[in-house]
Amino acid sequence: MSMTTETTTLHHWIGGRPDAGAGERFGEVTESATGEVVARVPFATTDDVDRAVRVAAEAAVAWGRASLGQRSRVMFAFREQVRSRADELARIATREHGKVLSDAAGEVHRGLEVIEFACGLPHLLKGEISGQVSNGIDSYSLRQPLGVVAGITPFNFPVMVPLWMAPMALACGNAFVLKPSEQDPSASLLMAEMLAEAGLPEGVFTVLNGDKEAVDALLVHPEVKAVSFVGSTPVAKHVYETGTVHGKRVQALGGAKNHAIVLPDADLGLAADGLVSAGYGSAGQRCMAVSVAVAVGAIADPLIEQLQERIDKLVVGDGTDAGSEMGPLVSKAHLARVRGYVDAGESEGATLVADGRGLEVEGRPGGHWIGPTLFDDVKPGMSIYDEEIFGPVLCVVRADSYDDAIRLTNASPYGNGAAIFTNDGGAARQFEQEVTAGMVGINVPIPVPMAYHSFGGWKDSLFGDLHVHGPDGVRFYTRGKVVTRRWADPAARGVNLGFPVNE
Ligand code: NAD
Repeated sequence: MSMTTETTTLHHWIGGRPDAGAGERFGEVTESATGEVVARVPFATTDDVDRAVRVAAEAAVAWGRASLGQRSRVMFAFREQVRSRADELARIATREHGKVLSDAAGEVHRGLEVIEFACGLPHLLKGEISGQVSNGIDSYSLRQPLGVVAGITPFNFPVMVPLWMAPMALACGNAFVLKPSEQDPSASLLMAEMLAEAGLPEGVFTVLNGDKEAVDALLVHPEVKAVSFVGSTPVAKHVYETGTVHGKRVQALGGAKNHAIVLPDADLGLAADGLVSAGYGSAGQRCMAVSVAVAVGAIADPLIEQLQERIDKLVVGDGTDAGSEMGPLVSKAHLARVRGYVDAGESEGATLVADGRGLEVEGRPGGHWIGPTLFDDVKPGMSIYDEEIFGPVLCVVRADSYDDAIRLTNASPYGNGAAIFTNDGGAARQFEQEVTAGMVGINVPIPVPMAYHSFGGWKDSLFGDLHVHGPDGVRFYTRGKVVTRRWADPAARGVNLGFPVNE
């Protein structure tokens, strides 16, 4: 049963308050477990974007000059808001995305950890000083805010991904403009209220709802100095290319096809648990999901058997039911796409071991359901191998040796996460050194870095130089300045047209 059948009309958040915007286009937000439309979301026009960015630019001046103490107190208060209302945020994510409540609670927690990291901003923004670099001269570095920075986020983590960006950008003294996914935008609006409650000055945090029109307007706006993007690879590439051509620094995180290699000596039970958890958690709608298991040598047959056993026991259902382990997909359109891949995998000659297409969930006929699906004998060249499915579809590829497995893994155009299951420390170390991915797991299938490290992939999984949050987040949202200082020094007087030499 849905919480309500009423359709609410959402808003933007500009200048510290709800704002209807001038647009006439709206999107529909559905409850994924029932398929019901629960909200209409306004799509910002280019004029809405311009107005909001100007408000943010004005607010950015005072916020950038606010003391570190003032800024960190807002972060601490925001942390309390998110902590005390974590359940509310998780419920919103479950409703609009579909993921089960425990999973949604996990994403809120991971977001909270970034806020906690950002609370240490006085320490993070410290510069360095070199005394007496020349006679009577000291040199020191500062990191200063950029002004207005924008974040564009995907549907699959409606709480965590905005929180990868906003706390870091705000702590560094910028105004942050968020364009959340139009498929599940409500969590962002609640976080805007929380930031206001936490004492963030008006205009420093903005939510602009919308689609390509809003994104493209942000990418060319002269007052937007930096853009963080997380989403699919084609859009990440577009955001990176357009943003950089317009003089902005851009970090654009794209899609993934994460491989997990299972060596013959691996702990079979641990590997099977890990692959099922990482393949089907959040119905495969995670950029760190494992979508390809590379089974090396004789472990393939027992691995398939153990995967099948676990898949048979998985409970798929409404994310708000305590017993559900896997929820629905985010939309009907995405369901059709994922089903299409399963059809293609069958006709391309892969062996369909578990087929989720027939799944029905009692009392929820309109939900976007597909059950856990497992393919064996998958090969490069099949669309289920080559393309990102972003659903509960795990593909097993058989390889003869570690060398074959790593060659295959590194030939993928994506390089977000990669994992290995083995009890051989030497093999694990070789993998860690050789694999061309940004986040590596050793007997850990979803190696998501902690908030105090940075998150990001390689190759087509990230366009740009810096990863998100952690130390890279501080670098991304600030620019460096180095001061060379001398106070009145009689010995330094006199005209000298030569290039300064340090004596
Ligand atoms: P998406 O690329 O469709 O959308 C992401 C954002 O871009 C949304 O805010 C959307 O409104 C906007 N957008 C969509 N099409 C656009 C266009 N043509 N021009 C300008 N803006 C556009 O991604 P999604 O479906 O919301 O999210 C799933 C994707 O995100 C998957 O590919 C997944 O791997 C990826 N993802 C990557 C990471 C990572 O860290 N690398 C994390 C989460 C999700």
